[in-house]
Amino acid sequence: MAPPHTMQNRATGRVGRTAARRALGPRRACPFPLSFIGFVQAPEATKAPVLGKIGRSTPFLKRKDEPDNPMKPPHSNTPIRLVERPSDPGPLIGAHMSIAGGMSRAIERALAVRARALQVFTRNANQWKAKRLLRADVRSFRETWARSGLRAVVAHDSYLINLASPLATLRRRSIRAFAEELSRCEALGIPYLVTHPGAHMGRGVREGCDRVAASLNEARAIAKAASVTVLLETVAGQGTTIGRRFEELARIRDRVARPDLVKVCLDTCHVHAAGYDIVSERGYDQTIQEFDDILGLEALRAIHFNDSKTERGSLVDRHEHIGKGYLGTKPFARMLRDARLNAIPKLLETPKGKDGVVMDRRNLALLRRLWVEGSEG
Ligand SMILES: [Zn+2]
Ligand SMILES: [Zn+2]
Repeated sequence: MAPPHTMQNRATGRVGRTAARRALGPRRACPFPLSFIGFVQAPEATKAPVLGKIGRSTPFLKRKDEPDNPMKPPHSNTPIRLVERPSDPGPLIGAHMSIAGGMSRAIERALAVRARALQVFTRNANQWKAKRLLRADVRSFRETWARSGLRAVVAHDSYLINLASPLATLRRRSIRAFAEELSRCEALGIPYLVTHPGAHMGRGVREGCDRVAASLNEARAIAKAASVTVLLETVAGQGTTIGRRFEELARIRDRVARPDLVKVCLDTCHVHAAGYDIVSERGYDQTIQEFDDILGLEALRAIHFNDSKTERGSLVDRHEHIGKGYLGTKPFARMLRDARLNAIPKLLETPKGKDGVVMDRRNLALLRRLWVEGSEG
């Protein structure tokens, strides 16, 4: 698998790459660069045991606007019979998986690591030209998904897309590609498309945010994707990338025609690199509170679970295995046991081992232990 490390590319093509690489060595660290997917509420999520509670008595998040099970593959032409599966209590965790060999292969890979949630690209993420999605691919993906028992599937967009680009040609191209990705999600029944907002390339954050909003509107107008929600991802803040502060995501959402179809994906590595403290208990409470004040916790629909190879505030995005980086295990234990986040899928984007599953298996096993026992050390 190994989706190319591309962060910087989306970020303008060139931002901060050399400096970051020099500081951090080889660049295989962050397999998922600037772009990704999103969405969520598992049907049995409300029944999941709540083993711990973080911070002071925070009321349960109510999601009145949510359908019972947004993750259910929607309106397929061919009716899907769900296979009965034993109930599988446990945290809603999973990973980004490769679609090499076909979209449905990603689901098989997810099952191979006992994931309950999955993130995929819906196309080759490092080329502008995408292969057409065939009816047979769609059917096989939907059928495999229905049989799988997976509770949540989100998509991540191509890292080439920059909806904030001030260059007319690149922006047009990005809008067309993003619209195509929205349509693919709709066809596949994937309710959330995660995207890094983009890079303003020197024009300033405000102008950049406004351009992203305008681009999202244009993409929606040409896409066939009435039921797909865009998840703006929090970013590390490398170069001129937008989305380092919660306020920036709020500004974008405030300016789109359909704010109800714009929610948020929080990446643990990125918020840490951007300067938010999620390591100390106090810092975690403050960060979640700030998110709630500025964006509303209701907007949080996916979490990328990545440890960080870089220090807090570094603005450099390098993913590390859970517990092996500057975050350690504490923030993950805390989030897994934070009842407000029970229904939100938590997805690894950590480096893959040789066979594409061994490292995910290890990271997910650790997360399951943390869910049960709390933080290690
Ligand atoms: Zn990243
Ligand atoms: Zn991410």
